[in-house]
Amino acid sequence: MAIRTIVTPPNETLRRKARAVSEFGDDLQSLIDDMIETMRDAPGSGLAAPQVDVPLRVFVAEFGPEPDVDEDGEIIHEYPRKLYTMVNPEITRRSVELVTATEGCLSLPDLLADVERAEGITVSYQTPRGQSAKIKAEGWLARIFQHEIDHLDGVLMTDRAEKLYKVEPELEGEGE
Ligand code: ZN
Repeated sequence: MAIRTIVTPPNETLRRKARAVSEFGDDLQSLIDDMIETMRDAPGSGLAAPQVDVPLRVFVAEFGPEPDVDEDGEIIHEYPRKLYTMVNPEITRRSVELVTATEGCLSLPDLLADVERAEGITVSYQTPRGQSAKIKAEGWLARIFQHEIDHLDGVLMTDRAEKLYKVEPELEGEGE
């Protein structure tokens, strides 16, 4: 495994439509392993292959629900973060309900953006071994998936932003 360089504009791969994955072998698995390590090192909650300069339709994401807290704000239950790896993902259903929230991006480290996205989606995808799968996601997880799938089409959050904020890199939260 290796940490790869996360590219930023004006890198061209970030702006191209990525190619579908057709070979599900060791090369794909080592790309995915590197992407997971790179995402965790950043740290971020999602990373798409074009962000490490590879024009393939693959992304990884890692997300867990907010912990339960008691009335004093003490954590009473923490949920494990779950890792998602999706190859050739396609959104097959979008909720009518849209929500606007502020998101970041590992390829745009000094920006935050208010972006309107579907509250819930269904995604069809393939596993790293090429098996077909489907997942329903809501809320923040649905937002991460939509952000990452945009990367596979060369779309950045700045293209969809209702509002952009400049941030100092050290104040920034987790990116995608
Ligand atoms: Zn991003």
